Amino acid sequence: MGGGSILIVDDSPESRVLLQRMLAAGGYGEILEADGAAAAFALLGLDPEGRGEPRPDLDLALVLLDIVMPDMDGIEVCRRLKNHPALCDIPVIMVTADNTDSNLRTVFDLGAVDYIHKPVKQVELCARVKSALRLKMEMDRRAALATELEAANDRLRRMALVDGLTGIANRRGFDEFLEREWRRCRRDGLPLAVCLADIDFFKLYNDIYGHLRGDEVLQQVAQLFQQVVHRPGDLVARFGGEEFVFVLSGSDIEGAEQVARRAIELLEEAAIPHPHSPISEQLTICFGISAIRPAPNGDHLPLLDCADKALYEAKQTRGNRVAIQLPEA
Ligand code: GH3
Ligand code: MG
Ligand code: MG
Repeated sequence: MGGGSILIVDDSPESRVLLQRMLAAGGYGEILEADGAAAAFALLGLDPEGRGEPRPDLDLALVLLDIVMPDMDGIEVCRRLKNHPALCDIPVIMVTADNTDSNLRTVFDLGAVDYIHKPVKQVELCARVKSALRLKMEMDRRAALATELEAANDRLRRMALVDGLTGIANRRGFDEFLEREWRRCRRDGLPLAVCLADIDFFKLYNDIYGHLRGDEVLQQVAQLFQQVVHRPGDLVARFGGEEFVFVLSGSDIEGAEQVARRAIELLEEAAIPHPHSPISEQLTICFGISAIRPAPNGDHLPLLDCADKALYEAKQTRGNRVAIQLPEA
């Protein structure tokens, strides 16, 4: 039948043999037997109290549990199974001659899925086992679907924040990150810096080498910049087109300038040829940077605005430089 084994827990050897035969006649082949709580827990790989990690190779589909047993009774065994995080989803069917109302209520409250009265009839046993297994399979299927859906949602969420070409954060990822870090820096009384970068004469590069080569350059620049910006509170993102942006949490303007100059250095070392650039033999970039200590009521727009103005200023002198503008305090 597949789907794991069935565990019979009963102190009476006759009952165990009878149940085992009936199940075998009903087509259930993988059957385990235990003569009490301790033996059952041992089979599952647990300690005598029913604690610990179950055996990793355990493939248990169902438990048939007698109520009246010496030492620990079936109600207590059921309680421990249902309280065990790794075993609580395994269906338990109580099998007993003791069908007092209070016992029945207790086992159903604990989470037993069904109840079979002794003497057991084969038709009834197999029908109840079958429906308990079917229910379990359906629950497992739904749980697997839910996990899959969750993972797909996670992937989508991440994809929505990542730039498809370069693999770094996109504009939306940047916006969310800046918003979050702004609030964090404001709370912790830390400065926050933004470095806006724009590749010089990139249209010309595309015009000469084609967009595919241009795309490769954007990927290369993104990789270089990731080597510059790698602290947990920092982010490098593609701001749009041939523009990149760094968010540097906890950095003042001096720190931001160092990072921008380091990025320019790395780009110089990479020496990406751009022989038609009017200012250099290789690809260059401009930075506009700004930093601020977030005020209790302000938002981050002036910070971005200043970085943008600084970038514009840097561009006015043809390129390959860093310009600074600070928001008014
Ligand atoms: P400047 O030195 O003033 O920054 O000039 P520029 O040519 O770099 O700037 P401009 O704003 O005139 O043009 C930006 C160019 O960036 C236009 C476009 O060809 C290129 N670009 C934008 N996005 C992409 C992209 O995804 N792939 C490629 N290959 N090129 C892009
Ligand atoms: Mg541009
Ligand atoms: Mg440009």
